Amino acid sequence: MQKQYMIAVCDILGFSHLVQMSPLQNVVNDSFGWLRKSLHHSLHKRDFPNEIPKKSDFLGNKHVGIAWFSDTFLLYSRRDDKEAIHQLIQTVGWLLFETMMAGRMIRGGISFGEAYIDEEESVFVGKPIVEAYQLEKSQQWAGVALTEKAVERIPERVRLGVFDDWWVVPYDVPLKEDKTLQTLAVNWTWGGHSWWRVSWSESKKLPDESDWVARPDVCAKFVNTKAFHKAVCRNCIDDEQE
Ligand SMILES: [Zn+2]
Repeated sequence: MQKQYMIAVCDILGFSHLVQMSPLQNVVNDSFGWLRKSLHHSLHKRDFPNEIPKKSDFLGNKHVGIAWFSDTFLLYSRRDDKEAIHQLIQTVGWLLFETMMAGRMIRGGISFGEAYIDEEESVFVGKPIVEAYQLEKSQQWAGVALTEKAVERIPERVRLGVFDDWWVVPYDVPLKEDKTLQTLAVNWTWGGHSWWRVSWSESKKLPDESDWVARPDVCAKFVNTKAFHKAVCRNCIDDEQE
């Protein structure tokens, strides 16, 4: 229906690589299956599902709606009120945290404005979807940033950096071509994880020279994601000083 929505567009990073490198059934059952479970968990905030949730279990909750197209999914506030917007941001925060913990990466943009959404008919049209998508694509990390319009819809004290159970933090978000965007980013580090270490691989803490030659984009995203964790995480201060 036509009204004001807060909309998050998220993308699974490295998805084309995954599809090219893995048997299709593994992608469907393992990668997609796990992500559907995690999305269900983040949305409903109940136990982590054992079985892959069916689409009928998936149609959002009373605050947040959801749609999925291949490696891109969209979450939107069902009402233009504080509670629905809060729930949307929290859902994205939980999901980002869980994907980070599992060594999987997503990237997203969140925008706000008038859109036409008819979930039953799969119609999703409007500027905030385009803006969220464009911001998603422009970032050089695994993370989720807010457009200016989305930031304006966040309570003022939260915008200024007060937590208040809102999973956002002011940050210079890394963009492609070494640019940055000063905005609010979803602060996934609020998820409890004192045991976690951010490592490039099992054997290497950071990408080495050959990694930078082979996959410069992936290395840059990793380093930027790690830098965000170091800058804002309150759990791992000591670990990251090593
Ligand atoms: Zn941490």
